[in-house]
Amino acid sequence: MRILVSGGAGYIGSHTVKELRHSGHEAVVFDNLSAGHRQALGGSELFVGDLADPGSIRRCLEHFRPEAVVHFAASIFVGESVSAPAKYYRNNAVGSLNLLEALVEGGVQGIVFSSTCAVYGEPRFLPLTEEHPLAPANPYGHSKRFVEQMLADFRTAYGLRSVCLRYFNAAGADPEGVLGEDHHPETHLIPLVLRGALGSEPLKVFGDDYETPDGTCTRDYIHVQDLARAHVRAVERLGEGWAGEPLNLGCGREYSVLEVIRAAERVTGRTIAYQVHPRRPGDVPRLVADNRRAEAALGWQPEWTDLEQIVRSTWEWMQAHPQGYGA
Ligand code: UDP
Repeated sequence: MRILVSGGAGYIGSHTVKELRHSGHEAVVFDNLSAGHRQALGGSELFVGDLADPGSIRRCLEHFRPEAVVHFAASIFVGESVSAPAKYYRNNAVGSLNLLEALVEGGVQGIVFSSTCAVYGEPRFLPLTEEHPLAPANPYGHSKRFVEQMLADFRTAYGLRSVCLRYFNAAGADPEGVLGEDHHPETHLIPLVLRGALGSEPLKVFGDDYETPDGTCTRDYIHVQDLARAHVRAVERLGEGWAGEPLNLGCGREYSVLEVIRAAERVTGRTIAYQVHPRRPGDVPRLVADNRRAEAALGWQPEWTDLEQIVRSTWEWMQAHPQGYGA
């Protein structure tokens, strides 16, 4: 298939572009390079454009004539979304609306949307199923939830097929070592723990008084390669005429912050210093996915189910690229 990937120069986007090409598809990237990296394109064609500019989306669609779109381009920091909500509603909600209108106008029939478990808000039960009520706890989650609603309404009105992939905690790096995580600022636990192993500042552990076995928060870490494979399957299924639905992408197991630190110590062979700090506002104690619907719908299963393997792939990327894509 001929697939347009918005945000294809970013972390999950670039891994998906690579996997699309590996699976025999043609992938072209639409990105404004505000957070993405040209070095992550791997030879895929880049159209530099902005979702804020409907004209640039239209020109891109006319140029490439994609059969489907995988839509990643978005602002991603929960904390920033609380202090700067307008940025999130503009980039994520309005930007996506511009894209959807252009897709309908251009006759594109399917879209895979990069959503998040943040659409659920504070879990009322675990593991989270797709039926869990949607009650986001921050503007980032709301902005993604709005797009999910737009997609449902565009399906009804215009027959646009869509699948919303609700990621849990994306982690890890390309097993071939070409791509990895390079966010500015970095806020995610695994890269920060590994920076701790490199002897930078002690890691801040945000709270050890949660109602979890060791008092630290637990999360469902899913390898970026497994996410990429799920996107490929989702877009292929849309191409086969599937109407699409929301799907959780997680491994279905949870690891605590302290377990991540221990895994990183085993992988690196180093001691990782940490200090316990107060809870980070907005963190929930536990997150874990029920991923059975995704497994059934996509014929997909996560392969990177071992935390140590996930951490090792990040460590290998960081050692080979100490300055991220800058080196
Ligand atoms: N965390 C931490 N120290 C850090 C970064 C994260 O203790 O420097 C914790 C955070 O409180 C959460 C977990 O690690 O419980 C995962 O956080 P991350 O930001 O990676 O992902 P989130 O679950 O917030 O999307």
